[in-house]
Amino acid sequence: MADAAQTPVIFLHAIERRYHQGDAVLEVLKGAELAVWPGQSVALIAPSGAGKSTLLQIAGLLEQPDGGEVYLDGAPTSGLSDAARTRIRRNAVGFVYQAHYLLPEFSAVENVMMPQMIRGLARAEAQSRAVELLSYLGLKDRLTHRPAELSGGEQQRVAIARAVANIPRLLLADEPTGNLDPRTSDHVFGALNQLIRQSGLTVVLATHNMEIAARMDRRVTIRDGQVLELP
Ligand code: ADP
Repeated sequence: MADAAQTPVIFLHAIERRYHQGDAVLEVLKGAELAVWPGQSVALIAPSGAGKSTLLQIAGLLEQPDGGEVYLDGAPTSGLSDAARTRIRRNAVGFVYQAHYLLPEFSAVENVMMPQMIRGLARAEAQSRAVELLSYLGLKDRLTHRPAELSGGEQQRVAIARAVANIPRLLLADEPTGNLDPRTSDHVFGALNQLIRQSGLTVVLATHNMEIAARMDRRVTIRDGQVLELP
């Protein structure tokens, strides 16, 4: 809900991003604007190559734009040191990708504990939150399984638990169910959506799945390097 008294969790302002390929310059983002309000979920729907991943990487401070400013909770981020950007990313942003990137030699619960312990939480606290989250996502009986001992849908639910373990201000998801069959995708998205609604997370989720997009609060696309609101 846009409320003048609130500050957007993420505000991308006049964002420009171009890639040089030999002599050619590919202008991916050309003055893109996007403000996402606390608790809002936004689906980003655009054809492959339109710049969805680029936009998410910039919003998550993984990439620097060539122009414009990224405001997180109202604070500009372009002048921050790499260390400060890394700290914000660890504490305030959660990422879910199409591939899960879980650590293969660690169990489900350990994978979810890891970011919390990196942040400085005690082992017992991290474990208790990891167990709670995984149980919430329907993985109570899979806590000690390693990624290879989990199905694709289960692995992706562990990745979701890991992304939200530090209670991020902003969750960024890049086609999080893109690798899953339709039924598993529904199931994983259902769990994610329930978590989003229950915890009031602010989310930007790139997807090709129109049913998933329809269940978000807003839908936007990228056209000619700009973000456009969809009806
Ligand atoms: P999407 O996520 O919508 O598929 P991307 O953000 O991944 O789109 O990419 C947008 C465009 O920018 C594509 O044409 C892609 O080839 C190009 N691109 C992305 N990253 C790079 C890079 N590091 N170097 C050169 N071109 C890139």
